[in-house]
Amino acid sequence: MKIYNTLTRQKEEFVPMEEGKVRMYVCGPTVYNYIHIGNARPMIVFDTVRRYFEYKGYQVNYVSNFTDVDDKIIKKAIEEGVEAEEISERYIQAVKEDMEALNIKPATKNPKATEEIDGMIEMIQKLIEKNHAYEKNGSVYFRTRSFPEYGKLSKKNIDDLEAGHRDIKVAGEEEKEDSLDFVLWKPKKEGEPAWKSPWCEGRPGWHIECSVMSRKYLGEQIDIHAGGEDLIFPHHENEIAQSEAANGTEFSRYWMHNGFLNINNKKMSKSEGNFFTVREIGEKYPYEVLRFFMLSGAHYRMPLNFSQDLMESAKSSLGRIKIAMERLEDIVEKGNPGEVSKEEQKTLETLQKHVKRFETAMEDDFNTADAISVIFEMVKLINIAFDMESSKTAVEQAKNMISQLLDVLGIKAAKEKVILDAEIESLIAERQEARKNKNFAKADEIRDILLEKGIILKDTREGVKWTRA
Ligand code: AMP
Ligand code: ZN
Repeated sequence: MKIYNTLTRQKEEFVPMEEGKVRMYVCGPTVYNYIHIGNARPMIVFDTVRRYFEYKGYQVNYVSNFTDVDDKIIKKAIEEGVEAEEISERYIQAVKEDMEALNIKPATKNPKATEEIDGMIEMIQKLIEKNHAYEKNGSVYFRTRSFPEYGKLSKKNIDDLEAGHRDIKVAGEEEKEDSLDFVLWKPKKEGEPAWKSPWCEGRPGWHIECSVMSRKYLGEQIDIHAGGEDLIFPHHENEIAQSEAANGTEFSRYWMHNGFLNINNKKMSKSEGNFFTVREIGEKYPYEVLRFFMLSGAHYRMPLNFSQDLMESAKSSLGRIKIAMERLEDIVEKGNPGEVSKEEQKTLETLQKHVKRFETAMEDDFNTADAISVIFEMVKLINIAFDMESSKTAVEQAKNMISQLLDVLGIKAAKEKVILDAEIESLIAERQEARKNKNFAKADEIRDILLEKGIILKDTREGVKWTRA
């Protein structure tokens, strides 16, 4: 299996530290708002990477944090007049709901930064002892030049960085020995959440959080560390410096980074105000269309432009797969119990070859777009090869083959039937009619039918509104 390693800028054969096991850390979101669909890209991509490892029989220890202490969370708490914790808890809950809707497997562990402060203090102490960090007026800074390999991930030259930094002195950081040094611990400001430490009451810097949580739940060395490409510098570069300086061993063997999701070819970002939340899109499309769009639209390292047209096309492509799978299910249910014919056997063999091609695509640095085109070829073949006369045994085997591949992509096969907007509307009309006639049992029954298909009804003053779960 080949993975593009940002550290070496090339595709490398994946060799796990321990046979059959993968230790993987994915930088998680800062929880101060609903996540936008850009944030969903790493979640979907790396969940798919994990699923493929599991399909190959690996046991994956998948850790992804929640950054629940941060300036943006504090700002929002002040705006709302509530504790920072109330904000972070609210949005952690929301992220978890969004992830479930996107069929992202729960992580083995989702550590929260605020619950790992002791470990951070301990690592900072160790860095001070080893002369990689120093304290100034209650703040602790990492001494960047004490780590000779600084810049190895982002391929930045330390002297160029220094020159760039000289012009932009950040207020309050003049006390640093060197403008390249970055903060590990900072004193609290009025009204901010704070923890006691040997240096002052304060809070950790962002980078140290991931170094500590990764070590605690996965060990000093891990197989894969991942996140969006904006995290390469400075976040991941700083994580490497801290972890390797403190632990004295290589931190992560492979570094994976997804490209950006753009709108109108401009980066989707909260600060620019050009973004859609996962929830907004979830009101217009089934969540799995968003998932399918992310995996089929471009290779995960490439930029991906979001547009309604592309979502519509993802919706209809996914629909084709679903309809084919439902048909297979129908044949299995009602079909012919006879023996597998020679011709059917041949179809199964061809499908098996496609399974191998799917794997080849995935093993070439997780080329999901190519893997999905293989699925389309399989769909085309089964649509022609099987009908109600076909042997159930053969059809069931074909169905299982494709379902397994869809599962790698986190796409549910046929179980939940696709329901079209028009069908929903007509069921809602039927339910309104039932209510008008005081047939509440029937109205509830229709609500349940819709719920089973993932449609949630809301009775509002302006009438019935519905959303896809
Ligand atoms: P944040 O909450 O900003 O720290 O982001 C959480 C994750 O989402 C990080 O891995 C980011 O790199 C990633 N991310 C943020 N915006 C985008 C985007 N527009 N496209 C792809 N990934 C993004
Ligand atoms: Zn991180």
